[in-house]
Amino acid sequence: MNIDYSEFTNYSRDEILTKLQQHLSEARYQHCLNVEATAISLAQRYQGDVTRAGLAGLVHDYAKQRSDEEFKQVIVQQHFDPELLAYNNAIWHGIVGAYFIEQELNIHDEQILNAVRRHTVGAPAMSQLDKIVFVADFIEPNRDFPGIKEARQLADEDLDAAVRFEVCHTLTYLIQKQVAIYPGTLLTYNALVPNH
Ligand code: GDP
Ligand code: FE
Ligand code: FE
Repeated sequence: MNIDYSEFTNYSRDEILTKLQQHLSEARYQHCLNVEATAISLAQRYQGDVTRAGLAGLVHDYAKQRSDEEFKQVIVQQHFDPELLAYNNAIWHGIVGAYFIEQELNIHDEQILNAVRRHTVGAPAMSQLDKIVFVADFIEPNRDFPGIKEARQLADEDLDAAVRFEVCHTLTYLIQKQVAIYPGTLLTYNALVPNH
């Protein structure tokens, strides 16, 4: 991939790849490369910010394999909402993961960091970049689940419809599994459906 991220970090793309490899399994690393490429395609399709989309996609799961202890320490020491302690890595790796990305990859751009923070649970008001990374994570070429075809088709036609489909799909899946829903995920959902 020939894309220049030097506007947003002093590390070269190759150095970022090395850091990702140090912290992630091969499968998770490949997922990050796939999300980078998919986010770039979506940004091109929707006339978005291709460079931010690529970099946010590349690093979005950087903290995915940190220990629970590391996350808990950062939540307490950096004064994140203590409610987060009731959840787990699924929620932490985006919202708190952005902190590791800022510290260790020297990426300080708030638009990129917000896209990482919101990549799992979304937000009531998402930027186009947030939506691109959120959807790219869901439809990258290695993803396979019932509904993936529709998700990819919607992503090709209407970015907002793709976001709505993903939020509904994820909530349905979590409820079927009977696991706790992070309140932020519900706020995202409520902002996407009509008021009653
Ligand atoms: P990944 O990091 O590429 O695997 O994908 P995501 O960051 O989108 O999601 C990570 C995990 O968090 C997935 O298993 C989701 O189903 C799960 N997840 C998303 N929203 C919530 C939520 O509100 N509560 C809980 N408990 N899990 C969630
Ligand atoms: Fe993730
Ligand atoms: Fe991911």
